[in-house]
Amino acid sequence: MTTLNSELLIDSKILRENISYIKSKLENQTNFMSVIKSDAYGHNLELIIKDIDDISDGYGVVRIEEAIKIRKLSDKKILLMQGVYTDADYQLARENNLDIVVHNNDQFSLITKHNNFNNLWLKVNTGMNRLGLEIDEFENIYENFLKNINFTLMTHLSSSNDKKSKHNAKQFRLFEELVSKLHSNVSLSIANTGCIMNFPDKCFDWVRCGIGIYGGYLDDENLKTAMTLRSPIVNIRKIKAGEGVGYDARAVSKKEMKIASVYLGYADGLPVTIKDGTKVLINDELANVFGKVSMDLTTIDVTNLDCKVGDWCEFFSPRLSISNIAKSNDLISYFLMTSVKSRVKKIYKNIK
Ligand SMILES: *Cc1c(COP(=O)(O)O)cnc(C)c1O
Repeated sequence: MTTLNSELLIDSKILRENISYIKSKLENQTNFMSVIKSDAYGHNLELIIKDIDDISDGYGVVRIEEAIKIRKLSDKKILLMQGVYTDADYQLARENNLDIVVHNNDQFSLITKHNNFNNLWLKVNTGMNRLGLEIDEFENIYENFLKNINFTLMTHLSSSNDKKSKHNAKQFRLFEELVSKLHSNVSLSIANTGCIMNFPDKCFDWVRCGIGIYGGYLDDENLKTAMTLRSPIVNIRKIKAGEGVGYDARAVSKKEMKIASVYLGYADGLPVTIKDGTKVLINDELANVFGKVSMDLTTIDVTNLDCKVGDWCEFFSPRLSISNIAKSNDLISYFLMTSVKSRVKKIYKNIK
């Protein structure tokens, strides 16, 4: 009998290789912040830290609970990207020596109330229109409170993956115009992964790199997908021409076929929208999804493959980039990585 467990294997050696490759794009003085929000994009925050701590200058997270967890594991800089909303948050952030993002006036009021301007990252809105102080709001704060304070000015790009997008040029221009009016000890940070890859001259003092570490940046083959999502074949059957496979009989055979069922479905985090023809890897050979993903199972066309029950079917892995499944299904790697559910067995391969 075969085990029914789907597995998520995480290879920390690949995380390190990806970081080294990304760092090769940076000037020496640029600091590397590993963004490990959302449980390190599904890679297990607590486990990855000890494998990347020596090559990270700091960490970026959104939730304060995650920041506190990291503080127990590392002495590096930790940026609390959600900032603080209450006195209790503020105290926790200071007790744990977190750097604090300020993205609106209410958050800055909390800072002035406690009258401590250390370790602040002021976020300005240059066109993302999601978070961040408007530029005039920031200028007001700067004039009144920050003229003699060392802090970091940050912004976030809306279109960093698209080198040609006019939004990038506009955001860079607004940011740099603002910077020219500030004192010279202000640290600067714009770059997420897409910006590092497409605009390496805009990396300034801190890059905030997430998806590239995990190998989910889709347009550079030097970055390898660090997680393997795989599931065993649990059934193989032959079908005749003209038969439907799976729900709604979405896939219909044109000829005699061999269909494998693997124990991975949307309840494991594989989107129900995955299309027929999406490539998977079985015994080092490519095969196609054939039929709608169900809650627990997915069906694969293995007509031309030599395979048996118990063989692994990989949906993405270092050998089959997550960009394959993302691009062919109009999905993003961020979503796929953070969608894998807890019932999938996670196996972490440490470097040592
Ligand atoms: C998530 C996040 C990043 C990292 O972005 P990637 O595209 O994953 O590199 C950087 N900065 C902020 C503010 C973020 O929220």
